[in-house]
Amino acid sequence: MPSTQYYTDILIIGSGIAGLSLALRLAPQYQITILIKTFQLKVHLNYAQCGIAAVFDQTDSIEAHVNDTLIAGAGLCDKKTVEFVACNARHSVQWLINQGVLFDKELNWAGKEQYHLAKEGGHSHRRILHHADATGKQVETTLVEKAIKHPNITIKEQYNAIDLIRSDKDPATIIGAYIWDLNQQQIVICHAKVTVLATEGAAKVYQYTTNPDISSGDGIAMAWRTGCRVANLEFNQFHPTCLYHPQKHAIFY
Ligand SMILES: Cc1cc2nc3c(=O)[nH]c(=O)nc-3n(C[C@H](O)[C@H](O)[C@H](O)COP(=O)(O)OP(=O)(O)OC[C@H]3O[C@@H](n4cnc5c(N)ncnc54)[C@H](O)[C@@H]3O)c2cc1C
Repeated sequence: MPSTQYYTDILIIGSGIAGLSLALRLAPQYQITILIKTFQLKVHLNYAQCGIAAVFDQTDSIEAHVNDTLIAGAGLCDKKTVEFVACNARHSVQWLINQGVLFDKELNWAGKEQYHLAKEGGHSHRRILHHADATGKQVETTLVEKAIKHPNITIKEQYNAIDLIRSDKDPATIIGAYIWDLNQQQIVICHAKVTVLATEGAAKVYQYTTNPDISSGDGIAMAWRTGCRVANLEFNQFHPTCLYHPQKHAIFY
């Protein structure tokens, strides 16, 4: 039997941009525990270089962003989801800015400061906000610093969630998770009113990928074991962006 048990209001499994932004939004009202499988440095966001797309340019529009995305998606996108993301992109980026995330700026023709927007493949307008070529690191560092300082947020590194715990009374209700504590080499039970999976995808199923090792589909598997429907598993965002080296793992650590 697991020897250590503890309680939290909200258990968030994953400390990337998804887990941290949710934690920071909920922390004013709830006690939050965030789990990290290995170390904080090994989240996807630290690898993200290019930037984040949102409509900031006055000549741009949500309709154009939606249209570009649907074309790039070659008919496979869910239009409602694309519209939701494009409509919410600007205020989500603004939320990051409010947290202290820095994006590069430039002077416009009138000498006024504005965000420097890059143009990338598939976009008809300039709409990529970035921080030099290390946008992910800038976002992650800022959010982690805020989460560490927040009195209602506890971050546990090397806490590897193994499985979700179902309620005896109602198996459809999740009441926490079993966790493998790598330091103590023991199983821990965390009881939570709400458990959130923010564990990203399963890009490491590809032999050649520059996604970090954490991307092993744990959250998808845990959800599946509790009866969730999983879909579109082929849509894993993965990055085979590295050169071959005989002594190197297929990732630029
Ligand atoms: C090389 C590269 C470049 C990219 N460039 C861009 C870009 O320019 N623009 C863009 O928008 N996106 C980009 N992306 C994609 C983007 O970085 C990711 O989509 C995003 O960071 C995912 O965030 P996340 O919070 O969902 O997951 P992640 O940041 O991957 O975090 C997952 C978290 O889950 C935890 N976890 C997983 N399993 C367990 C478990 N069993 N127990 C406990 N914790 C667990 C991990 O420890 C980690 O903390 C890029 C990705 C890569 C790899």
